[in-house]
Amino acid sequence: MELYNPSTIRAIKSKYGFRFSKSLGQNFLTDKGVIDDIIDGAHINSEDLVIEIGPGIGVLTAAAAEKADKVIAIEIDKNLMVVLADTLAEYDNIEIINENVLKMDLAELLQNEADSGRDQVKIIGNLPYYITTAIIMKLLESHIAAKSITIMMQKEVADRIKAGPGSKTYGALSVAVQYYCTVSVVADVPKDVFMPVPKVDSTVLRLDLRTKPPVELLDEGMYFRCVHAGFGQRRKTLLNSLQATGFNKERIREVLGKAGIDEKRRAETLSLEEFAIISNLMTGTPE
Ligand code: SAM
Repeated sequence: MELYNPSTIRAIKSKYGFRFSKSLGQNFLTDKGVIDDIIDGAHINSEDLVIEIGPGIGVLTAAAAEKADKVIAIEIDKNLMVVLADTLAEYDNIEIINENVLKMDLAELLQNEADSGRDQVKIIGNLPYYITTAIIMKLLESHIAAKSITIMMQKEVADRIKAGPGSKTYGALSVAVQYYCTVSVVADVPKDVFMPVPKVDSTVLRLDLRTKPPVELLDEGMYFRCVHAGFGQRRKTLLNSLQATGFNKERIREVLGKAGIDEKRRAETLSLEEFAIISNLMTGTPE
């Protein structure tokens, strides 16, 4: 069955009385080429446990199951359970979990799988736009034991994730994701390959989790405090914006002086390394 075929999607809708939920970000893929791009871009092999976020009617799930050892797909919409049981019936290496991915204990799930010998994990998904960054940050901040995360998202979010210092789209999200991962673009995807057609274009990114952080930090919490303070008021100079960390002006001036970083610069010009230098100096400075 060609699940991505619009006529199949229409037939499923009428057979199960299924209706797309806008609030759950349901835009289903209708293009075999894009499905192949995501699966190939994720470099899935027969040793892999694939975790898919938001399977919908199962287009990516089926394609991943052809290549992986096992696929676990997490879908919030109860109405899709009966659909997936039907569309994926021919596969015996797929498990569907009816859950909100943001509320799940993924570490526990992966630990149980690792205990059964499945410890090579790759995450994939065509993410619901409304919670893309929340999902990415949940995966990264919980130090998920995965090799990579290959996901489709709104193009604007992908642009923010891959931006470097000095770019208009560089911000806390870029610094956070690049701290945990190296980022590569798998494909740019036009909006007309989805049903229903969304308002925005998409990009597929692969985030390869680093085995070692790119910068040495004395205190990861302090690093992200600086990043969020700096970008919280991105038009302000560092001397002013970094006060949102709780440190006073004199302390910040002292730290920036020691770091050799001009206090008139803005957060959007700082590299990951410069944020690390500032936060390491702050870690050793009383507030
Ligand atoms: N993978 C399918 C495809 O490419 O055609 C569907 C992608 S659709 C953009 C996003 C899917 O994520 C929907 O099936 C939606 O119900 C599901 N979803 C939305 N919020 C979710 C959440 N919090 N946890 C798990 N799944 C969610």
